[in-house]
Amino acid sequence: MMKKNYLDSIQSTLLLGAGPSGVAPSTYRALSQTMLGHLDPYFLEIMEEIKKGLRQLMQTKNEVTVPLSGTGSAGMEAAFVNLVEPGDKVLVLENGVFGNRMADVASRLGAQVTKEEFEWGTPVRVERVKELLAQDHYKIVAIVHAETSTGVRNPVQEVGNLVNAAGSLYLVDAVTSLGGIPVEVDKWHADVCYSGSQKCLSCPPGASPITFSDRAMEAIHARKTKVPNWYLDMNLLTQYWGGAKRVYHHTAPISMMYALYQAVYNILDEGMENAFARHQAAHERLVKGLEELGLEMLVAPEYRLPELNCVIVPEGVDEAALRAELLEKYHIEVSSGLGPLAGKVIRIGLMGYNATFDTVDRLLDALREILKK
Ligand SMILES: *Cc1c(COP(=O)(O)O)cnc(C)c1O
Repeated sequence: MMKKNYLDSIQSTLLLGAGPSGVAPSTYRALSQTMLGHLDPYFLEIMEEIKKGLRQLMQTKNEVTVPLSGTGSAGMEAAFVNLVEPGDKVLVLENGVFGNRMADVASRLGAQVTKEEFEWGTPVRVERVKELLAQDHYKIVAIVHAETSTGVRNPVQEVGNLVNAAGSLYLVDAVTSLGGIPVEVDKWHADVCYSGSQKCLSCPPGASPITFSDRAMEAIHARKTKVPNWYLDMNLLTQYWGGAKRVYHHTAPISMMYALYQAVYNILDEGMENAFARHQAAHERLVKGLEELGLEMLVAPEYRLPELNCVIVPEGVDEAALRAELLEKYHIEVSSGLGPLAGKVIRIGLMGYNATFDTVDRLLDALREILKK
């Protein structure tokens, strides 16, 4: 192992896939800051700032708003494992890979899961949700805001109004939305909402911001059974992340927290609205350029995510070869389609630091050359 250091020969790649996204130089610098103890008073101050910043980004007053040690899926796991008790009825609104994952996570916890499927590439239909909520009472209703597998933006506000009126707990996946489009936890009546660091926050993978409403915390405190996962038990985690006396739970990944701090700082410094506008402008430039190349988008304009663009691969083009050429010759990464969309689409991420005209133009130039052949 010692002859050659592989890290010396990493080629820099323009990350325009479904994540991880490009990382800003300031965030790389944050990762190399000196180590502090996880109970060091100065680190506790940084933790407080992260909590405040996340509340701003997630547009919530929720006291329990913290980053978990783990990727976005840890957020998903934490959301369900803290709230689900065996036999609980959970409605999962599914229109892609991540809705499916939610149903899997909930069913492993012994929930009685109703998975309502909507066609991939189309949004969850609010009218159908209304019917379902009129027919049965669910403890939890779960939805993905930005379905990264298809590039669809789901109507989380409209669904949230219905879920709130039905008295269910509302669980929202905002992994690919946070930092790219508005996430409005309190306005949506979301009781749990989680994200991930490596999508539009432009931080390396490894932290998962999550927020719980007071109602959700009451539901956790009222459980008849212990949370069946020690690492993600919010009863324990809140004693480290809050309160006057900080209680050791697990060692916080200090450097990741520095990076997350910086990533959140960067977005608030730019201004959230400016960051959203930048994502939208980059997206519009990309779509215009793709259409000039004769390419079509999978999703109808009104449901498109600016940060995740699902593009239909034209007849006769080998999408795996296209992605391979982009990576090898142009050092640009885009993502493949998943599930039923495998081989049929490529997914172009314009997330965080990479949501700029420059990156869009670099990709379009490469695609133009490749497709000409
Ligand atoms: C990426 C993603 C996840 C999972 O996050 P990981 O960081 O890969 O664990 C969950 N939900 C959505 C919508 C995602 O895009």
